[in-house]
Amino acid sequence: MRILLVEDEKRLSYVVKKGLTEEGYAVDQAFDGAEGFYLAKSETYDLIILDVILPQVNGIKVCLELRKKKIPTPILMLTARTRVEDRVTGLDAGADDYLGKPFAFAELKSRIQALLRRSHKQSQTILTIDDLAVDPLKHVATRAKKVITLTPKEFAILELLLRHKNEVVTRTQIIEHTWDYNFDSLSNVVDVFITTLRRKIDKEVKHKLIHTVHGVGYKISLSK
Ligand code: CA
Repeated sequence: MRILLVEDEKRLSYVVKKGLTEEGYAVDQAFDGAEGFYLAKSETYDLIILDVILPQVNGIKVCLELRKKKIPTPILMLTARTRVEDRVTGLDAGADDYLGKPFAFAELKSRIQALLRRSHKQSQTILTIDDLAVDPLKHVATRAKKVITLTPKEFAILELLLRHKNEVVTRTQIIEHTWDYNFDSLSNVVDVFITTLRRKIDKEVKHKLIHTVHGVGYKISLSK
């Protein structure tokens, strides 16, 4: 599950990202409205968390512009609790829900889950290849109907590969979607995670699904 977080308060943004990452979500951050709008229209997200008061372009405008471009991604707007008009304007602009600041992380989490449930009811989102099935919403992965136990990071990597089925996913892409900015991208940690994923998914099966594309990254597909 991939979330775009558009919030200019860096501290809050990092805290939210950390919490959501621990829940197994892949989180991209934008720190102003222009960057948020750009990412929202060029990448695919399951949900956008959008602050109202942002530098460059405010959240209401971002929301309006995205809806004008027919981008249907659910939007959870962050508003100042005291400003009722912000909430109304936000919903009028096409946001799906709002959350007043300050908020408890637990509340954010349950709002996100509710929105994702609602939007995924409309579109089947079980990702599959061969006999591997991944349900991003329930955080369940199975191969040949047998449940595979994965850590949140392993799950996030597998989900990313599956969302780009038959395409090469670079190490940088994996790092960007799974780790935060403090991460040392020179380390071979991605390869270590891929090794454990392979052990869990591709061991003792006829069709290996995770393939190394030398010098580039990885690919999930039926054949090399
Ligand atoms: Ca703000």
